[in-house]
Amino acid sequence: MNQKSIWVGTNWKMNKGPAEAIADARALAFFRPPEGVRCFLAPPATSLRDVGAVLQDSPLMVGAQNMYWEDNGAWTGEISAPMIAECGASIVVLGHSERRQHFGETDWTVNLKVRAALRHGLRPLICIGDTLDEYEFGVSQETLARQTKIALHGVSQEDLERVLVVYEPVWAIGSAGRPAEPAFVSQIHTTLRGVVKEIAMQGSSVRIPLLYGGSVSRGNIRDYVALPDVDGVLIGRAGWNPADFMDLVESVR
Ligand code: PGA
Repeated sequence: MNQKSIWVGTNWKMNKGPAEAIADARALAFFRPPEGVRCFLAPPATSLRDVGAVLQDSPLMVGAQNMYWEDNGAWTGEISAPMIAECGASIVVLGHSERRQHFGETDWTVNLKVRAALRHGLRPLICIGDTLDEYEFGVSQETLARQTKIALHGVSQEDLERVLVVYEPVWAIGSAGRPAEPAFVSQIHTTLRGVVKEIAMQGSSVRIPLLYGGSVSRGNIRDYVALPDVDGVLIGRAGWNPADFMDLVESVR
C-alpha cells in the first residue's frame, strides 16, 4: 500500500455564494479523511469566512483562490494574505492558469504572491501549467521548470516546507480539456522533483508535495496518486458536490 501523504483538494472556482457554500461546508464538517490524506477546499473569497467558521474544528483545510501581495492599501478589488488568514484559511491557490490567462498574472507576480503568502503563515499552492502549443512543441518541461523556479525565487529553505506545487496542464483543465496521460504526468513530475530538489538545499529532506490537476475524476484519481512523484490532486468540477468529494477522497486509500 502506498503510504506517502496524499493531498486532495477541490477548487470551487467562481461557484457557490455564501448560502450554498455554508450548506456544502456543513455537509463536509464531520467528514474524516482516511489516515495520511490531507484535504482542502478553496471557496470563492465571499464565502471564505463562513466556510472557515463551519470547518473550524474539522481536519479539512480552507484555501483562498487568489490574493494580492501587499498587506493593505489602495488596491481596489483585491484581498490580502492577512485577510485570508483572518478568515480561518491556511492555504492560498496562486497562479492558476485561469488567472494567468484572463487576469494577466505572470511568473513574476506569482513569485511576489508566494512570498507574501509565506510571510503571513499561509501555504501557497502554486499552479504551473503548459499550454497546448507548448505541449505539442515538446517544450512542457522547460516551461514548467521556468514557472517553478521563478515562483520559488527567494523563498527560504525553512519556508519551502510550506509550499505545494500543482501541475495543471492548461489543455487538461475544464470541460473542453482532456486528462493528461498518467505516464506523461509521471515524466513531468520526475523532472519537477529534480527541479525542486535543486532549489532545496543540498542534503535537505524537504519534500515539496507535487500535485496533479486537470479533469481529475473518480475514474482516474487512483492512477495519478499511485505515481511515485505525485503527492495528490487538485480537483475542479468532479469535487464540487460534497458527496462526490468525500467519495473521491476515500478512494485514494
Ligand atoms: P477541472 O479543474 O478538474 O474541472 O478540470 C481543475 C482546476 O482548474 O484546478
